[in-house]
Amino acid sequence: KGWRRRPLAAAAHLILGIFWKSHRRGRFFFSACFFEDSNRNTKLHMAHSSQFQLHARARAPPPRGGGGGQLQRPCLLHRRNATRIRASSSSGASIIDGKLTAGQIRQEVALAVSALTSSGLRPPGLAVLLVGERKDSATYVRNKKLACEEAGIVSFGTDLPDTATQQQVIDAVKAFADDPNVDGILVQLPLPDGMDERAVLSAVPIEKDVDGFDPLNLGMLATRGTEPLFVPCTAAGCLELLQRYDVPIRGKVAAVVGRSNIVGTPTAMLLQNAGATVTVVHSQTPDAKAVCANADIVVAACGVPEMVRGDWIKPGAAVIDVGINAKDDPTKKRGYRLVGDVAFDEAKEVAGAITPVPGGVGPMTIAMLLKNTLDARMRSS
Ligand code: NAP
Repeated sequence: KGWRRRPLAAAAHLILGIFWKSHRRGRFFFSACFFEDSNRNTKLHMAHSSQFQLHARARAPPPRGGGGGQLQRPCLLHRRNATRIRASSSSGASIIDGKLTAGQIRQEVALAVSALTSSGLRPPGLAVLLVGERKDSATYVRNKKLACEEAGIVSFGTDLPDTATQQQVIDAVKAFADDPNVDGILVQLPLPDGMDERAVLSAVPIEKDVDGFDPLNLGMLATRGTEPLFVPCTAAGCLELLQRYDVPIRGKVAAVVGRSNIVGTPTAMLLQNAGATVTVVHSQTPDAKAVCANADIVVAACGVPEMVRGDWIKPGAAVIDVGINAKDDPTKKRGYRLVGDVAFDEAKEVAGAITPVPGGVGPMTIAMLLKNTLDARMRSS
């Protein structure tokens, strides 16, 4: 159709396409639907079709010589087609490298955003609301904004003082909820003492709930036959690591230590949905060690430094350590070092694969936030 209506444009597209194909040794990046008309949906379809081309390349055989912790092939954000990464290992368990994987996901998001914008569409927008002067929260927010910038996602922000009232915070959330350029809203937690977190979070509309904290999202995750709009980022990051490192889940036994709404519970649901038999360990569990020692996959998210010891791990199990704790260490310049909820040095002698802290689940959380924001943008059209 396009060829007849706009022969010059079609010829130019063909030449560019041939150039692109020979240059990248891939397929045509954009499909011919470009010529059908220029309405938003068609353009959006074009952006989607470029994603599918990336999928197609992701499914191609890996290049020779890849491996050893290197990403083997490009891909886009689709679980079943996610890039498989070989875990690296010096001695003991293989290392599941969250930094490397997060970098790959951020690249994939950046590619998809650039496909959107190069077709004349609005880039995704993420709004981050910071209340108070906590230094750690300010650092997290700064890192999220930087990550957005790198991926081509537009970031919006409102910083309110500690003295802001709950109503002022809710009004700020509602302003972003009404802004058509904002696809995702994130309220940096914790909020100052005395503020009702649930009341503030419930002002975030579910279609912009990129943190996945809305009870409806969690409910849909727990209900068979329904899919949540968003999965909480840290939990999604844990699953993404297991899947990209080809850790078998279906038919396996998993233990999740911790049952918080943002990490433990959604991770347990994701593992169960992926076919694992899951036991959730919490502060009232009588024999946490025995539960973990029986598991092929252990996810530790209890906030107790190095609680999961080496003798809690079944030989060959995969261990995902979500914990981030500061432990006094006078040998360090800053007087402490970061440790997880797993005693890494002991566990790595027994496990088959393990995430380090730092450099494991931590970087995945921001990467999954970018992915959720991109998903929100795609859905908004
Ligand atoms: P949380 O809300 O404090 O929840 C901790 C959970 O662990 C609770 O369910 C608690 O059980 C359970 N627990 C505490 N002590 C226990 C014990 N001795 N034995 C068994 N279970 C115990 O923490 P969270 O927000 O889920 O975070 C967990 C960890 O992940 C923290 O270290 C946090 O810093 C880290 N984190 C990391 C990221 C990241 O991006 N990597 C993101 C979020 C959190 P009860 O329910 O019975 O109290």
